[in-house]
Amino acid sequence: MTTIHDVVVVGGGLAGLSAGRSLRNAGIDAVVVEARDRVGGKSYTAHTDYGDVVEYGGQWVGADQEHVLSLIDAFDIDTRPQYDDGAVVSRVAGQRYVEPTYMDALRALPGESGSELLAAFEEIARCIKQIPGARPQNAPHADEWDAMTLQTWIDQQFETPEAQAAFERMIPGIYTADPSDISFLFFCYYARTAGGFHMVAGLDEEEDSHTDVVVDVQSIAQSVADELGDAVHCGHPVTRIEQDDDSVRVQTPERTYTASYVVVAVPPTLAGRIDYEPALPAARDELMQRMPNGTVVKCHVRYVDPFWRDSGFSGLVEDDVGPVNYFFDDGHPDGETGRLVGFICGSNAREWADKSTDERRVAVIDQLVSLFDDDRFDTPIDYLDQSWPSDPYSRGAYHGYPTPGTMTACWDAIREPVGRIHWAGAETATRWYGHMDGAIRSGRRAADEIQFKRSA
Ligand SMILES: Cc1cc2nc3c(=O)[nH]c(=O)nc-3n(C[C@H](O)[C@H](O)[C@H](O)COP(=O)(O)OP(=O)(O)OC[C@H]3O[C@@H](n4cnc5c(N)ncnc54)[C@H](O)[C@@H]3O)c2cc1C
Repeated sequence: MTTIHDVVVVGGGLAGLSAGRSLRNAGIDAVVVEARDRVGGKSYTAHTDYGDVVEYGGQWVGADQEHVLSLIDAFDIDTRPQYDDGAVVSRVAGQRYVEPTYMDALRALPGESGSELLAAFEEIARCIKQIPGARPQNAPHADEWDAMTLQTWIDQQFETPEAQAAFERMIPGIYTADPSDISFLFFCYYARTAGGFHMVAGLDEEEDSHTDVVVDVQSIAQSVADELGDAVHCGHPVTRIEQDDDSVRVQTPERTYTASYVVVAVPPTLAGRIDYEPALPAARDELMQRMPNGTVVKCHVRYVDPFWRDSGFSGLVEDDVGPVNYFFDDGHPDGETGRLVGFICGSNAREWADKSTDERRVAVIDQLVSLFDDDRFDTPIDYLDQSWPSDPYSRGAYHGYPTPGTMTACWDAIREPVGRIHWAGAETATRWYGHMDGAIRSGRRAADEIQFKRSA
């Protein structure tokens, strides 16, 4: 079956759906072709046996993420505050700390290590200021910082083992990669797109990093898809894209789409699995080979009630023992059910992603008992998790990251159209890289590029 359109968008995540929506709102015949039998990609909601929802993918939105907030507002989707009333539990280098706030937990590190950590945050802020917003490869120290892993920078920066351990422990939960996986340049660039490291690490005591939880996050994507109606085609994985001077042909096992332009709105490593004719420029092809997705398993543990709140705990935990790197209270602030959400990230996730859900459940519950020193954590009423690396249309999460050396070698190609092919996805965003907001921005930007070409 062959159909003819103005634009084909590959991928029905937030980036692709936003591209399709912008194009159709401009009167352009665009279709969104999605591999899975659902839309949303990494914004993926599970409806539980308890009549509520849990989020397997993205769930938090920040006050300055105006693109995702615009859709939440347009479709009247609920958000709720993050429960954060009570003490924070933190384990660093085997030592357990219970402090009123997250920053207090960092300041409580022994001797000079607390102030050393705060000085490192200031040094990071100075480095981030040197990164140009859209072209990190042009930063004054780009070559040096891209050749150096974040681990190398850490080894040079820290003198006290506790400060170093505390900083290293923060990274996998934010980047879903270890400090040895990413370059110092990417570390700075990612934080730069979010407004600073304090924004992604939750360090801000001034509240500008405050976030809310979206209730049923997938309904954002579903609402856009409902609006697009039969312009969204699920269950059609794109395998090949051919272009010539006149048109582009997008192939799936059952259909061929002919169009003037295509927007590829999938993570780079998945874009690299599509065949292209003619072959893509070398730098673009190399970029897709050098951007693995992060490694994460997201876990949900449910109890009859949130008993930790009565014991004075917020549910926020940061741990360098594992398997979970971070836990948060995931219940409504006024809710009666006890819910914790945890993230197994980076090398912890490499160890746990391929184990059975039952094995992970036992380990996560043991971890909670030991962290809170409370046997009541031993008896949850439910456990759910999602291992993203084994999902063939994600191959990991939260996003793709360039390996060391990649930004200076190939980043010119990240958004550069190749003939009739345009690129979107959260990894192409210059604001809120790797986030839902960045994904939506990227789809809108790719739609603008095509409108501009059509009007030229
Ligand atoms: C555990 C987890 C927690 C997260 N937490 C947050 C958070 O709290 N806040 C936040 O803002 N972000 C968060 N994120 C990140 C956020 O979910 C993503 O950045 C965003 O959803 C990415 O959207 P996208 O459209 O760029 O990519 P995707 O969501 O990956 O969409 C790509 C789509 O393309 C499809 N596809 C792939 N290959 C093909 C093909 N060959 N043919 C057709 N279709 C194809 C996929 O099925 C998918 O639907 C989280 C992600 C995860 C997994």
